[in-house]
Amino acid sequence: MPVPILLYHQIDVPPAKRVPFRSMIVHPDAFRRQMAWLKRLGYRGLSLRDALPYIEGSKTGKVAVITFDDGFRDVYENALPVLQEYGFTATNFFVAGQIGGQNAWDIPIGVAPAPCMSASQMREWAALGHEVGSHTLDHVHLPDVPPKEARRQIGQSRDMLQDMLGMPVTSFAYPYGDENTNIRTVVREAGYTHATTTERRKARPVDDDLGLPRLTIRRNDTWLHFLKKCLM
Ligand SMILES: [Zn+2]
Repeated sequence: MPVPILLYHQIDVPPAKRVPFRSMIVHPDAFRRQMAWLKRLGYRGLSLRDALPYIEGSKTGKVAVITFDDGFRDVYENALPVLQEYGFTATNFFVAGQIGGQNAWDIPIGVAPAPCMSASQMREWAALGHEVGSHTLDHVHLPDVPPKEARRQIGQSRDMLQDMLGMPVTSFAYPYGDENTNIRTVVREAGYTHATTTERRKARPVDDDLGLPRLTIRRNDTWLHFLKKCLM
């Protein structure tokens, strides 16, 4: 059974003015309703790590993978309590160079500044059973940087996160969904076992472990949009 891997960024009240990527900020009430819909329909929300047997086809069941990109603090504040309440797990892909910092990569293109989780918030996220994945050091376009820099972004971010957590980090998300076969090879050589893109469809057992598709959930998705993405 194909598995939906949902992609969120920020869970917060969107800014009033028209800033770029405002659609990536999902209101906390909408997030809560979406989790409630999953539960009502008999789905379990799982981290990528917890959902692997379902994606790979060794287990079957109603499962939706919940992922967040960029490690924003508003996910800790507004999504984590909801996940706990529903007994769901999730994966957050952290920008390792901005733990305790902010979305520095977004600010030059006019996105509103937003703080990222601190190291202790990230540790709490992991201690509650949620997964920490890597999203590079600086949120770079991996195919556009020299190969040596791509290796550093991919490898050092894993080392940093593992040192902060004291546990293995095995999942990776390509910033902007930008990747190619060389980048996938570097990701594999750095020790990751799974990576997600932004290709829009459900995951199937035949998918490359380093090229898992995801479905982006946007601010203005209605409950019907949300259910279509999960169910169809
Ligand atoms: Zn990102």
